Amino acid sequence: MIVRVLLLFALFWVIARVFWRFIEGVVSGATTAGAPGGRGRGGMQAGVKMTPCPVCGTFVVPGKAISQAGVSGPVYFCSDKCRAEYVPR
Ligand SMILES: [Zn+2]
Repeated sequence: MIVRVLLLFALFWVIARVFWRFIEGVVSGATTAGAPGGRGRGGMQAGVKMTPCPVCGTFVVPGKAISQAGVSGPVYFCSDKCRAEYVPR
């Protein structure tokens, strides 16, 4: 009789653990998916702010462009050629 109770208890414990892990997974998955800007580091996305090269006007992604410290913050260039031609104003 006691053995049956213990088995039942063990079974309940295992089910509770599995259930809890499942709940945790759902919660963490939901928060990751719902976080604004959570994913999308490194890929071209609609939300990426692009900035024009000050020399030729080509739009570049700041994260991938050649940058140089300017008077009012960093300046981003499309190529080394443009950076060499750039005259700070
Ligand atoms: Zn350029």
